[in-house]
Amino acid sequence: MQEIKEVLRGQLIQLASVMAFGLFLGLFEWRFAVRDNKKYREHWIDALGIFCVFLGACSFALSVAALRKLPVLHSLQTTINELPWYVLVPAASLAADFINYLAHRLLHSKHFWNFHRWHHSPEQLFWFSGFRGSFVHIFLLGFKNILILSISNLNPIVLATIGVQGLYAQMAGHVNFDLHIPILDRILVTPQYHRIHHAFERKLHDSNYSFVWTFWDKIFGTQTLPESMPDFFPLGLTPSEKVGLWRMLLG
Ligand SMILES: [Zn+2]
Ligand SMILES: [Zn+2]
Repeated sequence: MQEIKEVLRGQLIQLASVMAFGLFLGLFEWRFAVRDNKKYREHWIDALGIFCVFLGACSFALSVAALRKLPVLHSLQTTINELPWYVLVPAASLAADFINYLAHRLLHSKHFWNFHRWHHSPEQLFWFSGFRGSFVHIFLLGFKNILILSISNLNPIVLATIGVQGLYAQMAGHVNFDLHIPILDRILVTPQYHRIHHAFERKLHDSNYSFVWTFWDKIFGTQTLPESMPDFFPLGLTPSEKVGLWRMLLG
């Protein structure tokens, strides 16, 4: 019971931090918006999305709390915890991001698309709109956290790396302004890069699957560069893909 309370408290603190960071990004959206979102009316749907993510995150945290105590993991946990930070940070970052890339491609396959289309339903993007995901979507993109955090025994460096890049992918991927970071914006997913993934046209939304590092798309030939796109292109689902909210949520 005590463990459940601690997990819940930790997740509520994380949720409050996400909202505070999001409101900070909202100031930039207000000042540097690239698309007119004034008629946006779907905040409650996005709030439902973050509630589902919150439930998923609580169940993941409880799973890690139980799995990390398995005796079979002890020697692996000891080895990982002896590694220096300059090995742990890139290893955790690349492992988590590559698993996300593979899971995201799976979600775009014929058998899993119905579980992912809710994420592609917004026709306007802002910092809050990336949270829409069915429970299968949340599990496929979140199970790597259970895996990595259990085998590292909640190593704080690994936890911070995964936390920061998860927040970056969720927020920076969906904000309504462009982000230009010299040199890094060739290898880092930016809002203008992920926005293409939310395009209405199927050929475009079946590209740019990467979450944080763009080189997975480059390596596997699934990249569409922002400079090849017009200033404006429609976002969202085609009429044949649109179904009711609850069907999208359940898949
Ligand atoms: Zn997608
Ligand atoms: Zn997205």
